[in-house]
Amino acid sequence: MSAKDGGSGAQVARLTPDAGIFGRRRGARNPPDAGQARRIALAGEDVDYLLIRTQRRSIGMQIGLDGLTVRASRSVAVRDIEAVLVERAPWIVRTLAAWRSRRRDVLPREWRTGAPILYRGSELALALHPARARSIAVDLFHLKVLHPSPQDERAVAAFVARWLRDEALLAVTPRVAAYAARISAAAPPTSLSNARREWGSCNRKGEIRLNWRLVQLPPLLADYVIAHEIAHLVELNHSARFWAVVEAIFPGHAAARRALGDWTALLEA
Ligand SMILES: [Zn+2]
Repeated sequence: MSAKDGGSGAQVARLTPDAGIFGRRRGARNPPDAGQARRIALAGEDVDYLLIRTQRRSIGMQIGLDGLTVRASRSVAVRDIEAVLVERAPWIVRTLAAWRSRRRDVLPREWRTGAPILYRGSELALALHPARARSIAVDLFHLKVLHPSPQDERAVAAFVARWLRDEALLAVTPRVAAYAARISAAAPPTSLSNARREWGSCNRKGEIRLNWRLVQLPPLLADYVIAHEIAHLVELNHSARFWAVVEAIFPGHAAARRALGDWTALLEA
């Protein structure tokens, strides 16, 4: 645990975003019926997409926060699907770029009902309601905030921010213990960070810091960050031995690592 990582000079292994990489965000472990992650070169850009086989007769394309999803019947060959994608390449690349910039909207600019907020990889709509006691509940589409003064944007923002940090700690604590167990270690001292440049770090004392924004990532990617930092308890560097430890405790890490690059905007937002 002595090698340095990056140019920071400190003996801290940091997980920083891989700039410029727009990988698939779904990770490598889609259940079989959740579609197939594929990649195609369109207008000089590598575009990841999810191919879902359905009953439909036409080929459907959808672009959203999750990237490009293509739906087609099993009877349509991949080369025919990809020919259609090539035909629509300008639209696809332009729309994906628009969504990438939109990803900066991870926290509301205005804290009012309907504003988008990212939670565990899903874009939810803020729903504010007056109530005597403050509370927050999440359903499939909404982050519902009960607050004595729901029109007070600052108070709501502070309340939600505090809640997100609490949720982050609740979410990461058992995962840290689970990945530590995979290297036969006790859960290391873990704290949350508000860093702008890194998802997590691990220092020589074996202390781990995790960005509270992990609670905004899809859980699989948050897990990858945690597994990555836990692996630094074994190898405080990014050597081949380190990546072997990561792969051992988080199989398929390469796809998650690529995917994480697409969420860099979260750190900067
Ligand atoms: Zn690292």
